[in-house]
Amino acid sequence: MTGRNGTARWAPGTVIAYRSMAMGRLMAEVEVTVVRDDPDVLALYRPYLTPLRRLVPSNGASLPRVLRPDAFAALPDRYESERWPYGHALLLTPVGAEYSVYLNWSPGWTFERWYVNFERPLVRVDGGVEVTDEFLDLIVHPDGEWEWKDEDELDEAVAVGRLDAVRADRVRATARRVVGDVEARRWPFDGSWAEWRPGQAPDS
Ligand code: MG
Repeated sequence: MTGRNGTARWAPGTVIAYRSMAMGRLMAEVEVTVVRDDPDVLALYRPYLTPLRRLVPSNGASLPRVLRPDAFAALPDRYESERWPYGHALLLTPVGAEYSVYLNWSPGWTFERWYVNFERPLVRVDGGVEVTDEFLDLIVHPDGEWEWKDEDELDEAVAVGRLDAVRADRVRATARRVVGDVEARRWPFDGSWAEWRPGQAPDS
């Protein structure tokens, strides 16, 4: 077992916390199961209805999509527990990459899409990982057609000071590279992992 970021590698089957962070603050935490923790990729399974805890404003309203930095100070540490309602996912993070690729299935295991989340390089902490989202997302349909999601959020994040313009350009450059992978049907968009089920090691 060799360490990375000060933590040992996790054995397949280990349940860890996947912590979504924003400006260093915990926004949501969901239980995931380690499928593969290799030198090249971390693969995590997020089951349908897995426990989820998320920050909610004290008035119970949902948070704005892009919260201004000064609004963070006003947020109380108030979390609600629920269960992940959106089907199964395999979360693939190439080591050191500034994105993850989620394979999304319905609760009944119909493959629905790849979802590319652009984010800061994943941070390994005791008992889990911390991920800071960088707003832009890319949706890739099973037939290989793709579309941006939340391009406007990336612009808004720059406008309100959540992300500097240099960082936003880096996100866009990463996104263009991933689109190249999608269009060439390179890993992991080659379809071979879409048949994965819990208890199997995914294809490499
Ligand atoms: Mg995102």
